[in-house]
Order: sequence, then C-alpha cells, then structure tokens
Amino acid sequence: MLNSTPSQHSAVPTELLNSIEVGIVILDKDFRIQVFNKFMENHSGDRAEDVTGKVLFSHFTDIEEQWLRTKVDPVFNLKSPVFIIWEQRPYLFKFGCNRPVTCAAKHMYQNVTMFPLVGQDGNVDKFCMLVYDVTEQALGKLGMEHLNEELKIASRVDGLTGLYNRRYWQERFEDVFKLCKRRDKPSTAMMLDIDHFKRINDTYGHQAGDKVIKMLAQLIQRCVRETDLAGRYGGEEFAIILTDSKVESAAVVAERIRQLAQRLEVEHEGQTIQFTISIGLAQFERDFKGSMAWLELADQALYEAKENGRNQYRVFEAITL
Ligand code: GH3
Ligand code: MG
Ligand code: MG
Repeated sequence: MLNSTPSQHSAVPTELLNSIEVGIVILDKDFRIQVFNKFMENHSGDRAEDVTGKVLFSHFTDIEEQWLRTKVDPVFNLKSPVFIIWEQRPYLFKFGCNRPVTCAAKHMYQNVTMFPLVGQDGNVDKFCMLVYDVTEQALGKLGMEHLNEELKIASRVDGLTGLYNRRYWQERFEDVFKLCKRRDKPSTAMMLDIDHFKRINDTYGHQAGDKVIKMLAQLIQRCVRETDLAGRYGGEEFAIILTDSKVESAAVVAERIRQLAQRLEVEHEGQTIQFTISIGLAQFERDFKGSMAWLELADQALYEAKENGRNQYRVFEAITL
C-alpha cells in the first residue's frame, strides 16, 4: 500500500511514470482520473491533460461501471489490492494491439492491479491502477490451448473419413457397454464391411478405393443419429453402436444403409464405381462378459452375411430365435 497526498503524486518522478511500460492511472473515490501516464496516453490516444479530472466511465465508455465499482469495493473498504486477470476479462481498457501487423490479437490483453492509496488521515481516498500488457502471454496460452484441442481431435478421428478411429471408438465403446449394463434400454452393435473391396482397389486403384471408403463413411453418418457411435474399425470396415435401438429397428437402419450403398455411384477419374456392403447385427445382452464379446457376435453375423452371398445384413441368430 502506498501513502499518498496530491503533492506526492507529483513527487513520483515523471520520467519514471512515463518511461515505464505499464499503464498507471490514479483515481479518486468518485473515479475521477488524477494521473494518466504516457503508456496510457500512447495506447488510448488521449492526452493526460484532456482526461484528468474526468470520471473514468464517462470517458472510457466501454468499461462496465457497475462491475468495476463492485470490483474496486475491497480497495476502499478493506484497503486490500484487487486483481483482474485476462482470463477473467481480456481487458479493462479497450486498446488496440501494440503491433498491428505482426500481432494476431484484435485488442491488447491486460492484467490489472488496483491498490489503495492512503491519505494523511489514514483513509483511502484514491487508488492506483496498474495496467499490464499481457498480449503475448495470452496469445501464447490461447494458441497452445487451440493447438491442444486440435491435436486431441486429430488423435481421435480417422483422417480419411472423419469418423472416430479404432482406438478412440473402442474407448468410447467401453463406456457405452458400461452404460448398457446399468440401463435397461437395449442397444445394437453393427459391423459393416465392403464386399470384394480388393477388386475395387485392383480395378480402379488405391485412391479410388479410398474415395469409396470416404463416400461410404459419409453415407453412414447421414443414416445414424448423433448419439450413435460410428467409427472406422479397419480398412473398409466400420463399427456402429445404435444406442437405445432394439435389433429390429437397427435392422431397418442397416437395410437403408445397404440399399443406399448399392445405389451410390462414386466418380473417379471419369469412371463410375459401384459396390455393395455386408452388415452384421447383434443386440446387447446383459450376460455379455465384456464389450468385445458383444462386438464379436456382430462380427459373426457379418461373416454369415458374407457366407450367405454378401450385399445383405444378418442378425446374430441367438437373439432373433
Ligand atoms: P470381402 O467381400 O470378403 O470383404 O472381400 P474384400 O476384398 O473386401 O476382403 P478384405 O476385407 O479381406 O479386403 C480388404 C482390402 O482393403 C484389403 C486391403 O488392401 C484394402 N484396404 C485396407 N485399408 C485400405 C485403405 O485405407 N484404402 C484402400 N484403398 N484400401 C484399403
Ligand atoms: Mg471387405
Ligand atoms: Mg474387410
């Protein structure tokens, strides 16, 4: 806490006040500006003599009066300092960024410290605001957070299809399985595989094959609900959990996907590629030992669909009997 009288303000060396790369504003109880240093002048575009004596809120109209008054309360009542950090509020004074060309920020991020100035009578009659430019620090942190978020998403998603990759799908599948154990609503697992995909690769090339996988993934995404769990399980294999769906309604979805896939025409380098898919379905059962036991039944049904001539869905028998 600093002791101050009006004469002491002028006792602060002007050179120091003006050379420091921190904003200094001294205000009285009514928020009338007493001191406004060079840093503040440079960034606000206002001259000290033009703002001195003015009420802060009438000049800096962007500042929320009620909020700041409440915030400053402890400075007067408890004689204690108050801090505003950029994570709470990006800035107090709406200043542009220091380096408009190189700086990615639209405004200057600020940390602000406010502390009481005690008069000769021992009462707080003024307070001082220190305004720190923390734009670089803020951008660093925000950039890192953004990057981390992107990395997190990238690590979960398959690059070709945009669906969950196998590792993340399995992680989520574990959670779905646990939820199924706790709840009474039945869900159904669906395994889906492109028929004779090797032939597509051999006939049209690997890139064409990739395009087929991508188009099918989009088709699947259009046919399932947002709450369903769809992932690329392997090369041309997809796994989907249709949550809160009995196998009968999952079969309707499976048949729709099958028909749409059969009708889909994938254009690649002037050629039209058509293909079919096979699907296996298995409804959740309470006595499943683990999530993989459930998925294996869907896989078994898929195998039967293949054995039975492909281009069809099959339901794991034990459940439909
Ligand atoms: P089936 O009807 O029995 O499923 O026959 P299939 O030819 O589809 O057999 P299989 O599932 O064994 O073959 C999958 C092929 O998919 C083998 C592999 O070369 C190819 N493959 C795997 N991943 C990719 C990929 O990302 N892109 C492309 N273009 N091909 C892939
Ligand atoms: Mg296949
Ligand atoms: Mg396969």
